[in-house]
Amino acid sequence: LADNAVDVERLLASPMTTARPPAFPMPAFLYPVDHGLQRRNSTGADLAVIADRAPLDAAVAATVVPVIREATTEEVITQMVRLDDGFAAWSERPVAERAAIIRRAGDMLDARLAEFCGLLVKEAHKTLGDCVAEVREAVDFCRYYADQAQIRLQDQVLPGPTGESNELRMTGRGVFVCISPWNFPLAIFAGQVVAALVAGNTVAAKPAEQTPAVAARMVELLYEAGVPKDALALLHGPGETIGASLTANLHCSGVCFTGSTQVAKIIQRTLAHKDGPIVPFIAETGGLNAMIVDSSALPEQVVDAVVQSAFRSAGQRCSALRLLVVHGSIADGVIEMVRGALAELNVGDPARLSTDVGPVIDDEAHANVSRNVARLKKEAKLLGEAKTASTFPRLVPPVAFELGAIADLKEEIFGPVLHVVRWNGDVDQVMHDINELGYGLTLGIQTRIDSRAQRLAKLAKVGNVYINRNIIGAVVGVQPFGGEGLSGTGPKAGGPNYLLRFCAEQTLTINT
Ligand code: NAP
Repeated sequence: LADNAVDVERLLASPMTTARPPAFPMPAFLYPVDHGLQRRNSTGADLAVIADRAPLDAAVAATVVPVIREATTEEVITQMVRLDDGFAAWSERPVAERAAIIRRAGDMLDARLAEFCGLLVKEAHKTLGDCVAEVREAVDFCRYYADQAQIRLQDQVLPGPTGESNELRMTGRGVFVCISPWNFPLAIFAGQVVAALVAGNTVAAKPAEQTPAVAARMVELLYEAGVPKDALALLHGPGETIGASLTANLHCSGVCFTGSTQVAKIIQRTLAHKDGPIVPFIAETGGLNAMIVDSSALPEQVVDAVVQSAFRSAGQRCSALRLLVVHGSIADGVIEMVRGALAELNVGDPARLSTDVGPVIDDEAHANVSRNVARLKKEAKLLGEAKTASTFPRLVPPVAFELGAIADLKEEIFGPVLHVVRWNGDVDQVMHDINELGYGLTLGIQTRIDSRAQRLAKLAKVGNVYINRNIIGAVVGVQPFGGEGLSGTGPKAGGPNYLLRFCAEQTLTINT
């Protein structure tokens, strides 16, 4: 091995020496029904093969995306007062009742998978495979947070030496403002809202401008499931006006935000300067996510993981791979295979099942990603680029460039653009340079040296580390997701500590 003097027998005995088949995790942990979605993949082609596709095709064909009216800043004020008034009744309902409503919402969503897939394809331009995965994730969020509320939010008696009766109680905080992005317009939107609700808060929800209809349908579903109108309001409109007035509002008792690092900082400043109480801020933001590949890695597994992580969902995932750092001794071979995989990708209409990579979200994103690709074509070495004959609008063919150093990666390009850097020498230095980028969301490690994987994971300042697999698609309940540094504040979505941040704690001491 070029990058590590390692005892071959020890290496062969390592539990990681057995190549596992590529994993394509579906968020199906809590999901009992098999909808027939199968995955097969070796190079990134045929990302999703859906056996029983007729209901999905019919739903996509039938879907007309409704126009959702934008709120005014005056409505923000009246709705925040209404939600503040509604807080007492909702928060006083027993946690089991709130959980039952959220669980019912999950079941209803489960039953309406095809309908929501239709909306996701038409409004968010997601591929069908991504749509099915997203609806399942949203269902999982409902079921998982409902379960967690009943486990974690019960009153706790705290026995101790004081001779008094001591009890810890968890309650909602008031009106939680939930602000979500367009790239998971159902799963992230629903995840934030149901977590805040089940914890006993009332919720003012602002979805991204690009995807209001998916959010509006989810809110209708939550009302149908039993969430009172006074506990949840949807306020659609631009972040700069509607989002800003929500976070600045006196009745805002907490903010749950997912989106860019820049906007998270704007909200943080707003919260710091506004009158009234100090409120919690949950921010899940962007990433400059890397994958370190050493010379013991399995190239086929690496390439499979790279294609999934960098190009799936047209690279529009916060967890997506932006930087492949591959050891010099195997770099040429890996790059050759990435180039081959790029040539295989089917880039086109997201409603077609054969499509691997659909369009980016809107014209602005298309212009932005295309501008960066044009810049990189001048500044960096082009390694490979997908081709497409499709005339579907806003397509960006996946592309890979080689950079000279890790530090040359400056900003998150939210599209299917991969940067590759070769490394030689000290792998700890590689990890140091990645940490220096300041983000901390996902990291991939590809190695068959167990001790190296463990060591790098310890050195990494990131929220989610994936060893010998792709770095996307965290599964609710078993792979809690979220970053640190410029990537967010925590707590992790889909994890056992998430609900606690939405709660206030009260200690009740009775002199008995
Ligand atoms: P964005 O531009 O930051 O927008 C996110 C949300 O914030 C939108 O609803 C937006 O409203 C709103 N907003 C904008 N300015 C605001 C302000 N001044 N006050 C309050 N709200 C404001 O992000 P995006 O383009 O939608 O999403 C892509 C980004 O999200 C990427 O950086 C990605 O990495 C990150 N992301 C992170 C995670 C994670 O879990 N860590 C998950 C998904 C995405 P409008 O869009 O309506 O103007």
